[in-house]
Amino acid sequence: MADNSPIAAPGAVKTITSLTNPTIKDIRGLALPKNRKESGLFVTEGMKLVADAVEEDWPIKILVYGAKVAQHPVVRRVAQVAHARGGDVLEVSEAVLEKITRRDNPQMVVGVFEQRLTPKAEIRPSASGVWIALEGIKDPGNLGTIIRTADAVGAEGVILVGDTVDPFGVEAVRATMGSIFHMKLTRMSVDEFVAWRKSWPGIVVGTHLSGKEDYRAVDYDKPVLLFMGNEQSGLPDALAATCDHLVKIPQVGRADSLNLAIATGVMLFEIRRDKLKLG
Ligand code: SAM
Repeated sequence: MADNSPIAAPGAVKTITSLTNPTIKDIRGLALPKNRKESGLFVTEGMKLVADAVEEDWPIKILVYGAKVAQHPVVRRVAQVAHARGGDVLEVSEAVLEKITRRDNPQMVVGVFEQRLTPKAEIRPSASGVWIALEGIKDPGNLGTIIRTADAVGAEGVILVGDTVDPFGVEAVRATMGSIFHMKLTRMSVDEFVAWRKSWPGIVVGTHLSGKEDYRAVDYDKPVLLFMGNEQSGLPDALAATCDHLVKIPQVGRADSLNLAIATGVMLFEIRRDKLKLG
């Protein structure tokens, strides 16, 4: 028999159809870096991603869902949890979802979550753990793809060094496909990184087009900090000089270099080669 009981306590679900509702405007405003910085919040879209995040105890502030999925068992479960944790639960029209997501055919579920960064004092790599440091990355799609790939190979976290794009922006979050909720993220200035790097218990492996070592020749059976450079200019010399190894991925053909996210993927699958097994 269909369960048509209220999702949460009576009055817990607010129904919104007005495109000018102030809460809807605030959620939409989280597309701007300034608003994300001030509020410490970010938006993620999609029933599965929102449900996974809630199951992982990620702090949800607002759950928004379309009226037509109100009875979906996953939506009902997420709404109950969100409400129990003090989050707002909003049932909205499709037009409101289109406004929030700036898309036709929007996802029917949107979550507003608290941003979480890991303090650098809490970075403790395991014996063969891998962390990735990214310096000055500009493209949110690259950043999200790297976070997703880091998750896929079992890396332990990603360090955003210097002026690296916001991982909590809409485009970066979309590109992580949910891995933003599973991967530790840390921010450091360049100076902080240079000082902190001295305490790294394993090797720091930088990638560089003028690297003299083949990336397959390094012994990665220790904590590895993989250091990737910016899309246009690569790792600056001063940072390249802090690496224990400066490696290159050999290329043939006429391309000058690989796309940053592709190069990171090639490196990560080599570093984790012995740890990744089918089945
Ligand atoms: N013009 C830049 C340069 O001179 O470094 C190219 C940057 S490349 C598009 C972006 C990043 O991907 C580089 O900083 C490096 O970390 C990595 N990368 C790309 N191709 C690589 C290769 N063949 N070997 C090693 N690293 C590579």
